[in-house]
Amino acid sequence: MLKRTCTCGELTRDRLGDEVILNGWVDGRRDHGGLIFIDLRDRYGLTQVVFEPGSPDAADLADPLAAAHSLRNEFVVAVKGVVNARLPGKENPKLKTGAIEVRAVEFEILNASPTPPFEIQGAEANEELRLKYRYLDLRRPALQAVFELRHRLTQLMRNTMSELGFWEVETPILGRSTPEGARDFLVPSRVKSGDFYALPQSPQLYKQVLMVAGFDRYFQIARCFRDEDLRANRQPEFTQLDVEMSFVEHEDVMSTMEILVARLAKEFAGETLALPLPRIDYHDSMERYGNDRPDLRFGMEIRDLADVAAKTDFKVFQAALAEGKRVRGLCAPGGGTRYSRKDLDGLTEFIAGFGAKGLVWLKVEADACTGPTAKFFSPEVQAELRSKFDANVGDLILIVADESHVTSQSLSNLRLRLGLELSLYDPKAFRYCWVVRFPLLAWDAEEKRFAAEHHPFTMPLPEDLHLLDTAPSKVRAQAYDLVVNGEECGGGTIRIHDPAIQSKVFALLGLTPEQAEEKFGFLLSALKNGAPPHGGIALGLDRLVMLYAGLTNIRDCIAFPKTARGADLMTGAPNTVDPKQLRELRVRVVE
Ligand code: ASP
Repeated sequence: MLKRTCTCGELTRDRLGDEVILNGWVDGRRDHGGLIFIDLRDRYGLTQVVFEPGSPDAADLADPLAAAHSLRNEFVVAVKGVVNARLPGKENPKLKTGAIEVRAVEFEILNASPTPPFEIQGAEANEELRLKYRYLDLRRPALQAVFELRHRLTQLMRNTMSELGFWEVETPILGRSTPEGARDFLVPSRVKSGDFYALPQSPQLYKQVLMVAGFDRYFQIARCFRDEDLRANRQPEFTQLDVEMSFVEHEDVMSTMEILVARLAKEFAGETLALPLPRIDYHDSMERYGNDRPDLRFGMEIRDLADVAAKTDFKVFQAALAEGKRVRGLCAPGGGTRYSRKDLDGLTEFIAGFGAKGLVWLKVEADACTGPTAKFFSPEVQAELRSKFDANVGDLILIVADESHVTSQSLSNLRLRLGLELSLYDPKAFRYCWVVRFPLLAWDAEEKRFAAEHHPFTMPLPEDLHLLDTAPSKVRAQAYDLVVNGEECGGGTIRIHDPAIQSKVFALLGLTPEQAEEKFGFLLSALKNGAPPHGGIALGLDRLVMLYAGLTNIRDCIAFPKTARGADLMTGAPNTVDPKQLRELRVRVVE
């Protein structure tokens, strides 16, 4: 075989006259009568190869044109040739190799290929087809660039954590289920028939045990498995940077992770982050942004309008306030000029999708506000409303009166939509923050019991500990989420290291001491055996790659992703297995 002496991405004018060998895939062929041009592609780039009969370079090629004619896209070939300057005017400044071409003197077909089902360099093909022929899809330079970024990001994480004194430790894939709120993937045991392993939803309990073992600082680039109905941008298996630290409080975990986040921002967004990153109380975030992952790339914050609403003559507001509901709104800069009546009907319909029964709108004009309900707002109340939002002429005030969670959901989604439509932010910008002091528990109305907001091992804030007995729903957690551009990119908590508090929380979650012992006996026992105060975090690696690569589809950041139905279209997993395998496992499939 003609083994390569250089890659397809490196030849420049410095190498003029050199004889080289290239290996790669045929990216395209252009037939110019007497001349045939081939673009040869590998991971490093593209090089133009010329086959020209009669040229002195090609004297050794028996029938260069016939040979080149037989080449098709995606054939794997080896070419020996001489580096030549391209003719003036034929250079391609977009390519590193754009000033040269290689004049073929010898070549070999290393492998043939049928016509690909989609063009490798072409426009985006149908995703199912791309996933089925993932090996072709992954040849695309744009996708390869994502995986190069992913590689660099992973290395940066690894090196930074190691530098900060963390040990990389692997924890089992075949383990005992640890509750993270999702359904487990189960693996039947052959040896202990009837019993099952669970794939880890995260290494949560193992990393806590490592702290009890005195490892002090642990990290792992960990694969996590959650058998959930797949929502957009979720995968049944995903990768996270998993971290745990001993003798820390929540500020220590956040400030340590900020060192890494600042390095990521520098490397992948070219930005020097001002540390510490902003910390926003969960409660504030819900009030100002309507959700717990605020997009800080723009303002347009939500405001409580109960006091103003009470001064209007608008029955809808009066009734809502009387029923203990809330009146909240936001002010879209320039929205009054931008949106027509029809657009506003569209926005009303949009928030109906989040349960809101109506949208009150007021356009801020020079003399007064206009809109179908403007007449219910006296000039004084209008002035108050305008000053509440610092509104300017041309702005649009949008108000929702409803249950608190409905106002949050509808206004947060409206805010995001308007932010985008009104170009209120630079789509290339990155804004980071921590959301802190989450509630410890969430009331599960269906099951009529509390559920853990993060997971059952989360430590309450010290000042809220006494509320565990009297007002559990008011207890706030030592929990923190890292949010980037409105996406949750990570989250963690300080853990309970006191067995008495852990038992109390289990009880609130509806677990009897026997059930707690049965499920988490090993953790409770570890906690009783000299557990240090500890806490940790996990950052979503796939999600960070998606953000920094500027992508919106998480499948483009994972080499072999699954579809929304959990299928791998290339291998056909999940698939039926040999009945013999099932017999060995003593598993029967019930139709
Ligand atoms: N185990 C948590 C998760 O995977 C992260 C943590 O609390 O460290 O989301």
